Amino acid sequence: MNVYEICPGVLQIEEDYRVYCALVAGETGAVLWDTGLGKKDLRSFVRQRVGRPCLVLNSHGHADHTGGNRRFPEVRLAREDWPLLGGAPDYALMDLPAGAVFDLGGITAECVSLAGHTPGSRGLLLREKRLLLAGDALDPRLRLPENSLDTLRETLTRAWALPFDAYLTGHGPKPLGKDQVEAHLRHLAELTPDALEPVLVAGVPARRSEWRQGGLRSVFILSGQPAS
Ligand SMILES: [Zn+2]
Repeated sequence: MNVYEICPGVLQIEEDYRVYCALVAGETGAVLWDTGLGKKDLRSFVRQRVGRPCLVLNSHGHADHTGGNRRFPEVRLAREDWPLLGGAPDYALMDLPAGAVFDLGGITAECVSLAGHTPGSRGLLLREKRLLLAGDALDPRLRLPENSLDTLRETLTRAWALPFDAYLTGHGPKPLGKDQVEAHLRHLAELTPDALEPVLVAGVPARRSEWRQGGLRSVFILSGQPAS
């Protein structure tokens, strides 16, 4: 597995090709953020890296973020996304409410709602690091269910006001700057319904809009029920 140190205490782990998880380790506690497709033994990896209790949190309920949950005794995922797991889990599943705060010792991790990509999408704000772990919720090429643009607007507005400078996504190797959130907001402000073009994404009908300015690019892809 490729492992990158983003900053002291924060590792980004490439669990499968362009499928990323993160391990945040403070002085007293640790968080594994997402469990990937489940192809790698992340439990052994975590045990080797951190000799302390480790919480396992899912950014949202898609299979490429929850696939390794079964290796752990207990996982937290926002209740709104539980239906996406498709069946009863064989581990203890707990809610991950927005507003939950985890004191890891020198790193304060705060759970925030990033609803849009899925109803229960969450971010993890690492306050001292000014870093946000965002799952798929703020991707430059953002996949959304139909009728979710109002929710997205609220989420982007709230995210813009959070105290972070950079964020990690579930499918990109490098931290992105907060200007990507601003690009999405500006795209949304200029978006008219007829700007969404019909396209096929992996054979599924969808609607797409792209916005560019300077070096910034924002893409929205709306379809019935995105699965990843
Ligand atoms: Zn997803």
